[in-house]
Amino acid sequence: MATYGRFPVKLERGQGVWVHDSEGRRYLDCVAGIATCTLGHSDRALRRALTQQLRKLQHVSNLYAIGEQEQLASWIADNSCCDQVFFCNSGAEANEAAIKLARKYGHSRRGINQPLILTARSSFHGRTLAAVTATGQPKYHRGFEPLPEGFAYFDYNDIPSLEAALQQHSDRAVAVLLEPLQGEGGILPGDRAFFSRLRQLCDERQLLLISDEVQVGMGRSGTLWGYQQLGIEPDAFTTAKGLGGGFPIGALAVKNYAAVFEPGDHASTFGGNPLACRAALTVARELQQRRLLENVQQRGEQLQQGLQQRVQQWPQLLAGERGWGLIRGLLLRDDSISAIDLVKAAMAEGLLLVPAGSQVVRFVPPLVINRRQINQALQRLDQALSKLAA
Ligand code: PLP
Repeated sequence: MATYGRFPVKLERGQGVWVHDSEGRRYLDCVAGIATCTLGHSDRALRRALTQQLRKLQHVSNLYAIGEQEQLASWIADNSCCDQVFFCNSGAEANEAAIKLARKYGHSRRGINQPLILTARSSFHGRTLAAVTATGQPKYHRGFEPLPEGFAYFDYNDIPSLEAALQQHSDRAVAVLLEPLQGEGGILPGDRAFFSRLRQLCDERQLLLISDEVQVGMGRSGTLWGYQQLGIEPDAFTTAKGLGGGFPIGALAVKNYAAVFEPGDHASTFGGNPLACRAALTVARELQQRRLLENVQQRGEQLQQGLQQRVQQWPQLLAGERGWGLIRGLLLRDDSISAIDLVKAAMAEGLLLVPAGSQVVRFVPPLVINRRQINQALQRLDQALSKLAA
């Protein structure tokens, strides 16, 4: 179905940060399947691990113990603030699980019959009915009403707005679900003072603080999880996208005290199958062995400086730059060009970029990108900007 406005380009193969289309053109991929191909394309370690796993066992059922799933859950628990993990296949599903968990927590731990979850305006949490309702952007709601009940919104990074929403819904609020950096909403990093106050309010009111790490998690911010940039620990977090490096897998991780699911409460046929977990275990191992967090920090700084130079060089087109690590947004001047104009111009120069809203262009390359490739991306960006300026 025509659910996407697609570019007239068919991508057929890739290697590292490069992809090739059916006409033989080569592109430097700063989209990475929208912040998903952590190790780039056709990574040797991932290829080898998945081939081996296919020879051994692909899919069984969560009716049985799955060794790869246990290993992956242990890795997440050992490398985050959470203790237990539920596996699914996508970001929306992970958030759906988080929403159900928060509601059950409200019912069983707080005796609240009509639990309500607070989320931020300009957020994005996915397209299933509950996740899209959690998404604080009316444009994603239109045409899909009636939406599920039990959500209310506050302004991101705005303490008075959060306090007012909590006050208004004090008898029903059970959780706050939000991104540490708003991705689709325009690459807007969370504010430390805001998150610190949020943590305090959640503690005082026994609310679950749930971090949506679907886009920034798995190292993209320069720390393994986005919440680590903000100096707080959530009670639960969701992850997907980069977790499997291009293989579909999602997860909800929770601290022990919030792990209210019991057998029968929630399930997934595919969630956490041996093949998906092998993919994520391989991404996790490669992140550590190849010291990719350091690479994200260094290449992120290089990209940030490069983008800042372009903002100075093209003030008539560009308004600023923001982000963390290898998730960065270039802000366009309102009255000059739109994000899609720049994305198209960059594509013509062999550089893949993706909009984040109408006035921000997003750079989310594979975390393996090197110094030379960042320079190549910036050169191609220059060519695109010169053509647009002309
Ligand atoms: N949450 C965030 C922060 C996202 O950026 C996205 C996707 O862009 C989602 C959830 C939904 O993930 P998926 O498309 O895997 O359902």
